[in-house]
Amino acid sequence: MSDPLFAEVVGQEEAVTTLRAAARNPVHAYLLLGPSGVGKRAAARAFAACLLCPDGGCGTCRHCRLALASAHPDLVVVERSGPFIGVNEAREITRLAVRTPLEARRRVLVLTDFHLVDKAAPALLKTIEEPPASTVFVILADRVVPELVTIASRCVTVELRPLAPSRLVALLQAEGAPRHQAELAARAAGGSLGRARLLAADQGLAARQQAWAEVRGQLDGSGATVAVLVDRLLAGTEAALEPVRARQRQEIEQLAEEAGALGERGLPGREEVERRHRRELRRIRTDELRAGLATLARSYAEPVQALTRGSGSGGGRGPEGPGPEGRRPMGRVAVASRAVAAIDEASRALDHNPNESLLLQALLLRLSAVEREGVA
Ligand SMILES: [Zn+2]
Repeated sequence: MSDPLFAEVVGQEEAVTTLRAAARNPVHAYLLLGPSGVGKRAAARAFAACLLCPDGGCGTCRHCRLALASAHPDLVVVERSGPFIGVNEAREITRLAVRTPLEARRRVLVLTDFHLVDKAAPALLKTIEEPPASTVFVILADRVVPELVTIASRCVTVELRPLAPSRLVALLQAEGAPRHQAELAARAAGGSLGRARLLAADQGLAARQQAWAEVRGQLDGSGATVAVLVDRLLAGTEAALEPVRARQRQEIEQLAEEAGALGERGLPGREEVERRHRRELRRIRTDELRAGLATLARSYAEPVQALTRGSGSGGGRGPEGPGPEGRRPMGRVAVASRAVAAIDEASRALDHNPNESLLLQALLLRLSAVEREGVA
């Protein structure tokens, strides 16, 4: 049976069971780990409800309802204001952690985007490992980056796993997406339901994937070609963000109207809404570029995998097979693995808020060089 309190946490039965059990006798800090869009925030709200509810998460009392709506006075969600968790946020977290509960027996501090903890990590370690007994930290991160390793070691980690494409297809179809678009979106979503939902309504998805898949064949070793390719890929990324921008503009207009109707000067909360929009855009942008890089990596890995499989079935010439061309397939394996490693590195570098154009140009130049050396 599904757990109504965790209704928004789709396809994470194992994590939900773990969190339910943990809430009965909680420790001081939990790390909810998993790629963006797998339901970490929803899981944190429901877990907070379990921690704040006198009955351990009945799902119906005032504590539970307020926690699920992120409106409980003892549930604090800390968001970053810049591209990384800053020193100001670290100070704020330390200040919030020592406060006593207002209504419940505990306080729950949800710390978001902690794969972007960057230089704030050392300042936070002591707070996170020794909070007052009534404070529980719920830390959310897409990945454990080097800066997060020590903090992570002080937490109980609960993993939210990427959903299988078949599961995503079923969920999207149940929400009304046509089968073809659901399949396309599920394949490109990297196991994230949030991203799959976004892509299911994205008519430009197939063309963008095609553009990334064709990069390898277009590399000719020249910097001019690389520049053209990168411009095209980034223009595609920009186009993918346009519907999100349109929705955000609408939200700001609506806020302005409401403020106007109330006769207020200025817009209460507008700044916070704009910060949330910037965070959302960066997340979707990074997801989009990572998905593109994954497609590019497949264009190197898949032909080699096919080659290796062919050698297993007997008869086909394998990577180390004999014959006059004996060395060539081996060369292809080496090229593919070096290319995939370079692409992975670029994908990780996206966490550091880089100049995307320079990052991609450097990557494509490196891939051209790898290919050249492979031929030589
Ligand atoms: Zn309750």
